[in-house]
Amino acid sequence: MDQTKIQVAAQAICTARNVLIACHVHADGDALGSLLALGLGLERLGKTVTLVSPDGVPELWRFLPHWSRVRTAADPNHADLGIGVDADGSDRLGSAEAAVLAAPVVIDIDHHAGPDLFGQIHLVEPGAAATGEIVYELLQTLRAPFDGDIATCLLTAILTDTGSFRYGSVTPRTFTIAGELVAAGASPGTIYGAVYEQRTLAAARLLGIALERLEVTAGGALAWSVLRRDDFARVGACDEQTEGIVNQLRAVRGVRVAALFREGPEGEIRVSLRARDETDVGQVARQFGGGGHRAAAGCTLSGPLAVAVEQVIAAAATQLAMP
Ligand code: 5GP
Ligand code: MN
Repeated sequence: MDQTKIQVAAQAICTARNVLIACHVHADGDALGSLLALGLGLERLGKTVTLVSPDGVPELWRFLPHWSRVRTAADPNHADLGIGVDADGSDRLGSAEAAVLAAPVVIDIDHHAGPDLFGQIHLVEPGAAATGEIVYELLQTLRAPFDGDIATCLLTAILTDTGSFRYGSVTPRTFTIAGELVAAGASPGTIYGAVYEQRTLAAARLLGIALERLEVTAGGALAWSVLRRDDFARVGACDEQTEGIVNQLRAVRGVRVAALFREGPEGEIRVSLRARDETDVGQVARQFGGGGHRAAAGCTLSGPLAVAVEQVIAAAATQLAMP
């Protein structure tokens, strides 16, 4: 990791007093874990910290220490430092974007390779497996006192963004950091159980529906499924409860790319894309105004569902065919 960039960010943090930190819309484990860990760390250094997740903290992540400190809106602001974590572009800070960018100094902390950097200081490391890795290095540089709570937030960020240490993004450094987090009090088993073994009955039923509707094309290499509004109504679930379903679609033998389409409350279609080979699904998502990583990406289309499926599957099939 680039030590010069970390030093520049650390310096900006040292001179700040009121810090506003925000993560991206549809927050995931890396976004919330990084947000909370950085916030708690800076607080231990005597900063006044405001933490914002524009869509709040989904039920799934409410095992994270101090999650209730996270707010959905920033005050019309007096922050002298604004920080966006894991965002992939300031527009993904949603309703928190304006307040973050209004701060006199802004730091973009991210591991997305997207082109939309923001602020004056870019602590962006596409080689990091999770934004949580970068936050770890930053807190170390700042000599922030570590404890079990910060370690739990950071290990959650890293564990979830690496598919439990399975993705190609994992490096020896990922394990070194994870080891230090475990030594500081984080429990991989507890985190794994809280994230992956607490499926609600409604979410289990949604998974069942998605698996039953599974379709494949491209000789079985491209798999997809759909969840309609009436499915959500029937089982009493919301979009949060689709977390992880796309990975089950990708786990079918021969599948290289999987897509899950969900119809949202306003008829919009949310798409989650996952690859398990070199196919760049981030490229597919960007064609529809979305983004993400090579192996995990997403986008939202206006619908109707059948049209969204046709367009995205055609784009994914073309991407799949590329060498
Ligand atoms: P998910 O399928 O879990 O919603 O998203 C997977 C990954 O794709 C996320 O970690 C995020 O990086 C990215 N992603 C999903 N939706 C969007 C989107 O609409 N825009 C951008 N830029 N990235 C997205
Ligand atoms: Mn991330």
